[in-house]
Amino acid sequence: MTGKPPSGSRWAVGLFAVAFLLGISYVGWLASGAPDVEPDTTRSALDPATDRPTRTPRPSRTPRPSRTPKVSPTPSPLPPAFKVGIVAGHWKNDSGAVCDDGLQEVTINLDVAARVVAILQYEGYDAELLPEFSEKLAGYEADAFVSIHTDACNVPEASGFKVARVAASAIPEEEDRLVACLIQEYGEATGLSFHRNSITYDMRDYHAFNEIHPLTPGAIIELGFMGADRELLSENAYQVAQGVARGIACFLEGD
Ligand SMILES: [Zn+2]
Repeated sequence: MTGKPPSGSRWAVGLFAVAFLLGISYVGWLASGAPDVEPDTTRSALDPATDRPTRTPRPSRTPRPSRTPKVSPTPSPLPPAFKVGIVAGHWKNDSGAVCDDGLQEVTINLDVAARVVAILQYEGYDAELLPEFSEKLAGYEADAFVSIHTDACNVPEASGFKVARVAASAIPEEEDRLVACLIQEYGEATGLSFHRNSITYDMRDYHAFNEIHPLTPGAIIELGFMGADRELLSENAYQVAQGVARGIACFLEGD
């Protein structure tokens, strides 16, 4: 079934009615007050040259409160390293004792003393090698001073080591402690026995003791005898040097 098509006059009336209603609505809308049109504020922000909005300068940021500096403990500077002077007995002066076969004391002394210095430096000490005689020794200031010597070959069966400090010490307790540390550590490292009763006047009146600063703790060590102790002193110089270095460390670290 099909409907009857609307006549043309009826369409015209309908359109007119719709237009009329829209007109009424528009007038009513105006009367009720069209929403206020905002003044074109963006316009003022247009750049006349490009017609593009210029950048309104941003309000400057409130500066952040500066960081409270962290209260990290200031790393305290490391304490200065202990200064140690090591004399290679007879070095740069004479040969020291000489055995019949030509072995010279200074050879052993220098070998061991240089090793002692190297060990101490490796362990962080400010150690230096000194010759037997030097202007440097006058008033020499250090935390420890040790002169290294070796006994002769003339008594073939003689074995063992000696340690002494200056007879007229300004710091006897400290120097006795240095001597005690050397005896203990050197004896332990080498297995040699300590010659308590054969400390000579020469050792206690060793020339350098009278040159260095009176408050520099000093000692002299006779490492052993070039006869009976030769193998240890020549072939195991590192072990010998370890004994001296440990004795010095024992004194400095207060072990
Ligand atoms: Zn000597």
